[in-house]
Amino acid sequence: MSFPAPSRHALPPNFPIIWKDDVGYDLARIGRVFNHRRPSRYPIAVVQPTNQDHVVEAVLLATKLGCRISIRSGGHSWAAWSVRDDAILIDFGKFNYFSVDDATGVASVSPSTTGRVINQLLEPHGRWFPGGHCPGVAVGGFLLQGGMGWNCKNWGWACENIVAIDVVTAEGRKLRCDKNQNTDLFWAARGAGPGFPAIVTRFHLQTLLRYSHVRDSTFVYPKENYRPALNWVLKISPTFDPDTEIAAIGSYVPGLEGVKTIIRFTTFKNSQEEAETALKPAHATAPPGANITALCTETSLSDQYDLQHAANPEGHRYRVDNCYIKNDADVASVMESAFMDLPTKKSFSLWYSMAPCSRRNHDAGSMQNMALSMQSDHYFAVYAVCETPAGDKECADWVRGIMVPASKQSPGAYLGDADFQERVSMYWNNENAQNLIHVLSKWDSRGLIAGYLNKGDTGSVEGLRSMVKSSWSPNLV
Ligand SMILES: Cc1cc2nc3c(=O)[nH]c(=O)nc-3n(C[C@H](O)[C@H](O)[C@H](O)COP(=O)(O)OP(=O)(O)OC[C@H]3O[C@@H](n4cnc5c(N)ncnc54)[C@H](O)[C@@H]3O)c2cc1C
Repeated sequence: MSFPAPSRHALPPNFPIIWKDDVGYDLARIGRVFNHRRPSRYPIAVVQPTNQDHVVEAVLLATKLGCRISIRSGGHSWAAWSVRDDAILIDFGKFNYFSVDDATGVASVSPSTTGRVINQLLEPHGRWFPGGHCPGVAVGGFLLQGGMGWNCKNWGWACENIVAIDVVTAEGRKLRCDKNQNTDLFWAARGAGPGFPAIVTRFHLQTLLRYSHVRDSTFVYPKENYRPALNWVLKISPTFDPDTEIAAIGSYVPGLEGVKTIIRFTTFKNSQEEAETALKPAHATAPPGANITALCTETSLSDQYDLQHAANPEGHRYRVDNCYIKNDADVASVMESAFMDLPTKKSFSLWYSMAPCSRRNHDAGSMQNMALSMQSDHYFAVYAVCETPAGDKECADWVRGIMVPASKQSPGAYLGDADFQERVSMYWNNENAQNLIHVLSKWDSRGLIAGYLNKGDTGSVEGLRSMVKSSWSPNLV
């Protein structure tokens, strides 16, 4: 399909648009995409707004041209959902806003604000926000899909801290959405992910009081100790200290031979004593056989971002997938192959403890007010990383070889580590999926927002319908 560029005189003066044939187009198209396995998809233009009126203008232009709108906040979607054929890409990279009300702790931020930046800006106010674990993940894509932020297992999903959003609708209207107005859009903003049927220009977030002491206990086990190590952490996680995040990682460790199982406890406290008390039950019960044991090590949020940044290096080609594992499954068996062998030295596997947060919907109905509705006690994801296209096939085969069998022990998956062109799963419970179809149809009946990128890129509502349909029977599209 080809779209004639309208006369540039029809646009407001200095409107920040780069057309396909302009110098700098390719940098604007993919320069901010984290995954270097770059897509062969070509938007007709890239708009780089610096204010909300630019976003309205981009929507009106797309309507006039009969093309779609795709959106980029931080560019960390693994599958590069922002890069779409026949679309105007709105890239929020130059749209920066931050303010905080010290009385309420509510921060207002632009969607491209990253986890590291929001926390640097909040630090002088004695506050913080549990954004994505990697420093460069922006709040835009992260919050819309739920957001597994720091200590999500206890403190809940990051999107539960959204107080309100400002949006531009698919008709170009500016709206505020919160629990009293435009409530269906507010509901969808917490879990719809890349199908959200409007463009968020500002998030209003309840920030949290800052913790002064971040401490980490790490146990590194050889392969042969995988089962005792995993079964130990599975047992102690659900009732562990409520300010402590727990994860198991299968990865290579510098200076050691072979893939290791790393069990990590990261606690957020206000004194050394509190941190030691929190981590003590892990120290007291850890099975023997660890290659390395580091107990209650001093760290900080900034150090943690550096670690995550090193574990997810820039300039690499990523292939990822995930599933929640059923609570009653033999979790160690389901994940075993992913913790035994990795396709490259930089690849890794993750088990992320989600209990007790995963049980709240059953107990208190706390998840009823948002689209996000899929979870279990066990989040399992794999990240295959290579440096050149030559490694792509091996990485893809490994990911598929792990996740296709694992998904048989799974109720569904998380949008954040998904690629709907590779494998489709259930991302919401049935009721919420049906409601989402309704909300998308209501707010974007013409399918202006590009939405879920499925095979064939069939558009927002159709994309969602096909995903919901295909995930009922066979998990593979
Ligand atoms: C290295 C790395 C680490 C990660 N760590 C975590 C983690 O700890 N926890 C976690 O939950 N996830 C994590 N993720 C997944 C990440 O949260 C998602 O990929 C998320 O979509 C990234 O948000 P973004 O704004 O940076 O991405 P983008 O690629 O810019 O956005 C993704 C999509 O979200 C939609 N979108 C974005 N902004 C807007 C907007 N303003 N209005 C409407 N729609 C919008 C669009 O469809 C867009 O294409 C990680 C990803 C990477 C690459």
